[in-house]
Amino acid sequence: MDKSAIFPGSFDPFTIGHESIVRRALPMFDKIIIMVGFNANKKSFFSLEKRVKWINQVFQNEKKIEVRVHEGLTVDFCKEVGARYILRGLRTSSDFEYERAIAQVNKKMHPEIETIFLLTLPEHTPVNATIIRDIVFHGGDASMFLPKGLDLDEFKPETKK
Ligand code: ADP
Repeated sequence: MDKSAIFPGSFDPFTIGHESIVRRALPMFDKIIIMVGFNANKKSFFSLEKRVKWINQVFQNEKKIEVRVHEGLTVDFCKEVGARYILRGLRTSSDFEYERAIAQVNKKMHPEIETIFLLTLPEHTPVNATIIRDIVFHGGDASMFLPKGLDLDEFKPETKK
């Protein structure tokens, strides 16, 4: 059976920090499914279409990666696609506390699913989607925090085009 991992997140937007976690995890799995979380009650900054498109562009030459959209619990998605691993990145102690609770609750409810954590590279510790959205919103240049090869014009907020 394929060893598959789910990398769930809102990816609003997908950053060099996310990209690095996925690339470093690739040798450990046969397949990584990047699950873009969709919440009908929560408005994202970038549209779902753009977020999915950018991740597909970043990994267009990587056969082991698939990008999917899911509304609901990550563990339900794991069952749907037959994945036993959830991949998450850790930057800080507050990430750790937040992730610890989710992973332990998931483990209690679904003992067969393991959450695997990779520590961020030191240079990616401050890379945070919230800060990037703020830079973009105020017309700043966030390109150094975004994966290479994307069309930066697409990151401009609709109202500022
Ligand atoms: P969520 O909304 O579920 O927190 P995010 O899109 O913010 O989703 O992040 C998805 C995953 O990527 C989380 O495990 C998060 O800790 C991790 N992550 C976010 N930014 C970085 C970064 N700069 N370096 C490493 N991991 C990161």
